Amino acid sequence: MSYAFMGKILRVDLPQGKITVEPTRDDWAQQFLGGAGLATKYLYEEVPQGADPLGPANKLIFMTGPLTGTSSPSASRYSVVARSPLTGIWGHANSGGTFGPALKRSGFDGIIFEGISPKPVFLKIIDGQAELCDATPVWGKTVSETEDWIQGTSPTRLTVAAIGPAGENLVRYAAIINNRHRAAGRCGLGAVMGAKRVKAIACAGQAPIRLADEKLFQETAKKQIDYLNESLLKVAFESFGTNIVSDMVDVHGGYPVRNWQAGTFEQIDQVNAQALSDKVLVSQVRCFACPIACGRGTEIREGKWAGHHGEGPEYETANMFGACCGVADLQAITMANYRCNDYGLDTISAGSSIAFAMECYEKGILTREQTGGLELRFGDADLVVDLVDKIAARQGVGDLLAEGTRIMSQRLGGGSERFAMHVKGLELPAYDPRAAKITGLGFVTANRGGDHITAYVQLPTFVDMPMLVVENSAIRDPFVANPEEAKVVVDMENALTVFDAVGGCKFMGIMLSADDYVGLIASATGWPFGLQDFRTSGERIYNLQRACCVREGINRSQDLLPARLMEEPLPAGPAAGMVIERDTLEAMKSAYYGFRGWDQETGTPTPKKLHELGLDDLIADMW
Ligand code: SF4
Repeated sequence: MSYAFMGKILRVDLPQGKITVEPTRDDWAQQFLGGAGLATKYLYEEVPQGADPLGPANKLIFMTGPLTGTSSPSASRYSVVARSPLTGIWGHANSGGTFGPALKRSGFDGIIFEGISPKPVFLKIIDGQAELCDATPVWGKTVSETEDWIQGTSPTRLTVAAIGPAGENLVRYAAIINNRHRAAGRCGLGAVMGAKRVKAIACAGQAPIRLADEKLFQETAKKQIDYLNESLLKVAFESFGTNIVSDMVDVHGGYPVRNWQAGTFEQIDQVNAQALSDKVLVSQVRCFACPIACGRGTEIREGKWAGHHGEGPEYETANMFGACCGVADLQAITMANYRCNDYGLDTISAGSSIAFAMECYEKGILTREQTGGLELRFGDADLVVDLVDKIAARQGVGDLLAEGTRIMSQRLGGGSERFAMHVKGLELPAYDPRAAKITGLGFVTANRGGDHITAYVQLPTFVDMPMLVVENSAIRDPFVANPEEAKVVVDMENALTVFDAVGGCKFMGIMLSADDYVGLIASATGWPFGLQDFRTSGERIYNLQRACCVREGINRSQDLLPARLMEEPLPAGPAAGMVIERDTLEAMKSAYYGFRGWDQETGTPTPKKLHELGLDDLIADMW
């Protein structure tokens, strides 16, 4: 097995309660690197097309990368991959904290859960020994209660990733939470875990991670950490967290307000980074081996939730429970975040589902009878927190909201599909493409659905910052759609895909070049890994992910934005009067498919492209 891998994965047969250890496929690791790349290869090979995401044929795959757990800057990440119950296509979630390193040091690169357990279980892994344990006493309990109870079952300090009631209740956007506050949030993989009756994974261990050239690796990592420590960007993220971008997005006119009915928020100063620092910040929180510390340790100091503490909100959460719901009460936003972490809910999809329900109520599409007497009004901060409770428990109107905006709009009808703010079922993050056209392309081409960190193209647009990991990320004028700039989306998707595969945080891509990363990967694994390998690996993985989606029926026609963004002009702000017209989006897509070597009519990777990437075995499936 290549260096930097543990060389073993756990396969857990849940119906039989049987655990087997098998070698990590080294040939696949060399092609798909690890993390989300390697997990996707296992998914593609082992999960049949059309498998029910919540049924026994779906598999839930946890995978670390070759850099996870090393001293490389921010090597904290692990990925989870399965068919998503929210989107029905390739589902991926990724998280930092310390769980990824703990899993790897327990002796394994990853875990594949198969089938459905007859009773609630948790998987305990200590120093290479894995056992399935009864989780009945904590079924129905929150993430923090579960972690406390699991810690009590062992004299060894364990690192835990768990689901809360939302995952058990099969909320379609349930998250997996590690270290109590860190979410593998998107795509509803917590519901897949709940369907399998796996409450948690708890691990510990001291297995060494063998590196090909330890000295060179440590020197390279140290040089990069020293460089990052002197970066102004690090200081900015450490001081203000990700919410530092709220003012920038608002000033560009793309800050979603009242379910994307507007792009500037009149109360931005009550929910921006400064407000967060003034009102709730207690400490900066960092993931394993990270010099940045963008996490927020917070405490609610006043009002009805005074005394509660935890982590967050970060930018997306602050917008989705805040301006997107018309709320400017930072205490309520923070409380909604805490509850999502404890129930195991994705904050973006939860906030977006609430905002969508509020607009449906405003328009009379969702009636008081359907809400059980609740008035779903924009701006009602207490209601937002209350609805998070109801979603996790699938109680009352929460049962409808737990389905996510796509299914909600299908059930409610009345033209609500126009303002159900998702792409392929995944609720959109808080950047309005009417104010930065290229971000719309990034939303529709992201393999897991409407997502911001697949292409991260909001960085050179809303934040006016280049992404160093690609050669050129410049966007001339965010208000103007330039099909040639589709190349930036392709390059950023490919480069950032590598981070999810090797186990690094994508924020490093802002500050470190691909050359920097190549040095780390080569000295860790021993592979002859150059700049071209970096680019090609990202592209190969991206095409494999697209193949997973194509296999589930995705084609060009579904690479589409909600009608609101294409037809309803923003009412005010710098982008007032703007939409991203359908023809404009189609022109950018055509350019994008051209740069990707995908078929123009279907958006499927062509046989020529698949062959070029060494993915010949997919050709017969796709064509
Ligand atoms: S930059 Fe933030 S999210 Fe990324 S590893 Fe560091 S603390 Fe974690």
